[in-house]
Amino acid sequence: MPYQNFFLSCLLVLLQTSISQQEEQSQLLLVSFDGFRWDYVNRVPTPNFRDLMNEGVQVEKVENTYITKTYPNHYTLVTGLHAETHGVIANEMYDPIHNKSFSMEGPSVYDAWWWEEAVPLWVTNQKAGKKSGAAMWPGSDVAIGGTYPTHYLSYNASMPFETRVEKLIDWFSGPEAINFGVLYWEEPDESGHNLGPESPLMDPVIADIDDKLGFLREKLKAAGLYDKLNLIVTSDHGMTQLSHDKIIELDTYVSRDLYTWVDKSPVVGILPKEGKLEEVYSSLKNANPNMVVYKKEEIPEHYHYRHNARIMPLIIEVKEGWTVMQNRNGSFMLGNHGYNNSLPSMHPVFVARGPTFRREYTKASMRTVDLYPLMCSILGLKPLPNNGSLSSVQDLLVETPTSKPEVLLTPRQSSYAWAVGSILGTALVIGFLFIFVQQVTQRQLPPLHLSNSEITQPLL
Ligand code: AMP
Ligand code: ZN
Ligand code: ZN
Repeated sequence: MPYQNFFLSCLLVLLQTSISQQEEQSQLLLVSFDGFRWDYVNRVPTPNFRDLMNEGVQVEKVENTYITKTYPNHYTLVTGLHAETHGVIANEMYDPIHNKSFSMEGPSVYDAWWWEEAVPLWVTNQKAGKKSGAAMWPGSDVAIGGTYPTHYLSYNASMPFETRVEKLIDWFSGPEAINFGVLYWEEPDESGHNLGPESPLMDPVIADIDDKLGFLREKLKAAGLYDKLNLIVTSDHGMTQLSHDKIIELDTYVSRDLYTWVDKSPVVGILPKEGKLEEVYSSLKNANPNMVVYKKEEIPEHYHYRHNARIMPLIIEVKEGWTVMQNRNGSFMLGNHGYNNSLPSMHPVFVARGPTFRREYTKASMRTVDLYPLMCSILGLKPLPNNGSLSSVQDLLVETPTSKPEVLLTPRQSSYAWAVGSILGTALVIGFLFIFVQQVTQRQLPPLHLSNSEITQPLL
């Protein structure tokens, strides 16, 4: 009968709506342009960054974590932990307990042990039954805790940005789509080191990053992802100008036979030889007004850079713009980062847009550790213990996120689902009651038999 078919069709629509709601996952892409200082957007026209700010949110002052180097800060972004807690405390590390060394330029990068004091967000996402994709993010081609991202690219600095984007778009599309992606690009860090951030030659480098962001936006639009996906564009640190006049030569103050040098300027770990700690410390303590030497236990608590075996018994921190070397024979760069994370020049850019973010909203400040609970909220994941605070950044979002480990729906999606569900549900109840009463009163087939045969048929 026609009205019976109508109500059964309604049931199907209701089922399909409910299934597609379950499948609809909040999607998030986290992009890092290495070394993109917060104020680069004001230096040359950056129409793509501007569009994102107008369509979404901008945070003016983003305090990253000590030390302001690539590996520590990229791992902070995806764990919400300060370096002393996630364990990737520098680009170059030494662990005296296990007598192991790490260098971002060598194969030790692939030794998962260095990364396993924390769990990155892509792993947590996958443990919740979802899929992640990573294009070159530090640590993302390592089997951390035995788990790689669902899709990832082995690190290859010569792979063009455009290829990385195309891979991610593929992973975000289709029935097996990822819901979380990370994308890394080496510039403007590399040019910042080589040219110095004050060089006018940096202007076209920054303009090129804006073009690359434009490429990403166009590709997302073409794939129908732009309005569905939450996009965060940030960086690991800024960059400051160096000068040949600001070099501290450690050999002037202490014999290199007395210690092992770990990592590079501007924060250097010093491992004194057996029994030589006091001698090295007193030689360096008041040696130069442009450097501070801390015994490990004296490192200020607010640096969050003390409680880890990979932090050396002494650390040297030099003032902004200064370079510390053993002597002048080492390689010298015109720009660097790694300086104290309270310095504005070390702060990264932060813009974000998408269904979960507010529009045209500027926030004065945030900490990068807060990004992790924010991303967990967007992804509907229960955050692991972290140093961040969701409530500090919740104003970036359009609605109060749930703390439950479930998919966060945008207001429009949730109200749409509620309305469709209510209307169809009411119609179905009335419809089935109507058919049931009619069939019983007409004494045709037994009601249970009828409903079974009628429901089964359309599903076939
Ligand atoms: P930094 O000077 O601290 O900003 O380090 C930046 C450098 O880290 C880049 O120029 C790359 O050479 C290197 N790098 C970034 N990501 C990776 C990775 N996934 N694997 C290996 N090296 C990387
Ligand atoms: Zn970097
Ligand atoms: Zn760098």
